[in-house]
Amino acid sequence: MFRKVFLAMCAFLFIPFSNAQWSENTSPTYRELIAYFQKLDLQHTEIELYAMGNSDYGLPIYVCIVNGAQDSLKTFEKARKQTTILINNAIHAGEPDGINACLIWLDMWIKNGKKTKDLPLIAIIPAYNVGGMFNRGGESRANQDGPIEYGFRGNAQNLDLNRDFIKMDAENTFTFVKIYQGLDPDVFVDTHVSNGADYQYTLTYIASLKERMAPSMRALAYDEMLPNLSAKLKSKGTDLFPYVELVKETPEDGIHAFNDLPRYAMGYAALFDAVSITVETHMLKPFPQRVKATHDLIAELVVWMGKNKKTIELARENARDFRQNQTVFSFQYEMTEKKDSIYFKGFEHSHPLSLVTGLPRLKYHQDKPFEKYIPYFQTYVAKDSIQIPEFIIVGGQSKQLIERLQHNGVELEYLRNDTLIEISGERLRNFKSATKPYEGHFYHSEISSDYEKKATHFKKGDVIIKLNQKHRNFLLSVLVSKAEDSYFRWNFFDSYLQQKEYFSPYVFEEKALEILNQKPWLKEELEILKAANATFRESSWEQLYFIYKNSELFEESYYLLPIFLK
Ligand SMILES: [Zn+2]
Repeated sequence: MFRKVFLAMCAFLFIPFSNAQWSENTSPTYRELIAYFQKLDLQHTEIELYAMGNSDYGLPIYVCIVNGAQDSLKTFEKARKQTTILINNAIHAGEPDGINACLIWLDMWIKNGKKTKDLPLIAIIPAYNVGGMFNRGGESRANQDGPIEYGFRGNAQNLDLNRDFIKMDAENTFTFVKIYQGLDPDVFVDTHVSNGADYQYTLTYIASLKERMAPSMRALAYDEMLPNLSAKLKSKGTDLFPYVELVKETPEDGIHAFNDLPRYAMGYAALFDAVSITVETHMLKPFPQRVKATHDLIAELVVWMGKNKKTIELARENARDFRQNQTVFSFQYEMTEKKDSIYFKGFEHSHPLSLVTGLPRLKYHQDKPFEKYIPYFQTYVAKDSIQIPEFIIVGGQSKQLIERLQHNGVELEYLRNDTLIEISGERLRNFKSATKPYEGHFYHSEISSDYEKKATHFKKGDVIIKLNQKHRNFLLSVLVSKAEDSYFRWNFFDSYLQQKEYFSPYVFEEKALEILNQKPWLKEELEILKAANATFRESSWEQLYFIYKNSELFEESYYLLPIFLK
C-alpha cells in the first residue's frame, strides 16, 4: 500500500503530464476511476461525490462537485444558485481524454494548495457511459493514437448516448437529465475525440449554432468566452480551432458550423440557454498531448468563469427574459450559401493510387504543413416557424412523453373534468420514415401537416402545458412536430399513423353509390381522377377507398396527432 503510494508520487514527479495514478498513455477503468473519486471525496472537504442514479449497465452514474469556496457541504442542492460548470466525460467511452484531463486538473488544484478560490462551482461526471467503460479494449477506435485501453462508443444497450437526449431510451439519460436539471449549469462541456480529416490542430471545439442562441448567450460565448480562451491557450502554445466539419472531401474545400441538434448533449444543454461546447481533440495526436489540450481548455475555462460570474449570470438572466418575450419559435435550421473564410493550419493532400484497391485514395502529407484561409460556412437560417401558443394540450395516454417532460422539470396540469375546447389540432398530410433503425428508432422527416381549428373534446387526465414557464424553449423543441428533434420525429406518436378500420368492398358498393349521389362534387372528382390516372381507373379498390376516405365513415382520428395548440 505505502509502496504503491510512494510509486504514485514518484510518477507524479517524473512524468510531466499525467495523473498520480495513471501513466501517460493509460486511462482508468470505471472501477478505478470511481474508487479514486471516492478517495478524493473522503480526503477533501471541497470535493463531494454523489451517486446520481442508474445506468443501463446497472451501476450508478456519479457527479463530483468541487466547491472551491468551501462555503458549504452538500452543495448539489445549492448548485443552482451558483455559477456552475458541468463537464461530461466519456459519453463515448472510447474517447477518454476528458477523464484524464479532469483527474489532472484535480491533482494540480490539490497539489497547489487549492489556492484558487474564485472558481465557479465545478461539477464533473467522471464517466457517463458506464456500459461503454466496461466494454474495454484497444481496437475499437481504429484511427486513434492511444490510450492503450479504452471503452466503447455504444452503451450497455448499444445506444450512442450522444443521440439520446430527447428520446431518452437509456437509463443513463434519465440520470443525466436529473443531474442537469438539478444543477442548471451556466456552462456545459462535453469531451470527445474527433474522427475525420487530418490537420495540425490538437484541440477543436463546437459551439452552438449562433442563430438558435439567445442574443445574450451568443455574445457571451462568441464575443467573450471563446476569444478569451483562444488567447489564453495560444499563450500556452495550443491553438483553439472550430471543429473541422467538412463541406466536401478535405478542409481546403471548406468547413461548416455544426448544427447542435437537441439530441446531442451539447444541443440539449443549449435548449436551456447554457453556454454549451463540445471539445474534440484530434484522433491522430498522441493521447498525452490530447489530454493536455483538454486539460488546458478546462483550466482556462474555469478561471474565466471565476472572474466573470456576474457577466455570466446577467447573460443568463437576459436569455431567460428573451425566451419569455419570444412570440415566434423558429426551427429547421439549414446551412446557407453565405461563405466566410477562416485562417487554417492544415496539411497538403494528394490522391495517389491505393495499393489496396488500385483506385485513387486520399492521402494527407504531415510533412507538408500549410497555413491559409479556407471557406467557412457558418450562417444558418430557419426554414420554418410557428407563433408560440399560450398552451399545449397532450393526451393523458401519452405516458412516456409526459414522464419525459416531468423529468425535465416541465410544469404541467391535468384536466380535472372532460372539457370541450376550441383549439388547433395537427393533421399530417405526409412524412417519410427511415427504412433502417437509427439509434433504435425510425426517425421521421419531410413532414407536411395542417392545423385544423375546431371544438375538441378532451378527457379528464389530459395534460395542459402552459408556455409561460422557464422551459419554454425545450417544450417547443420537443412538442412542435416539425422541429428537428421533436417527440413526433422520434416515434412517440407512431400509433396514430395507422388506419384502424376499413370496409369490405362487396358490402360497400351500395353505400358508395349512395354517397356519390349525395355528394355530386365527389362524383365529379372521381371522374376526373379516373380520366387522368390509368391505375386508378383499373382499380375498383382504389376508387372505393377514395369514396370511403371522403365520406363521414372515415375515421376522424386518422393522422391527427394528440398534441393541440391554443
Ligand atoms: Zn465522441
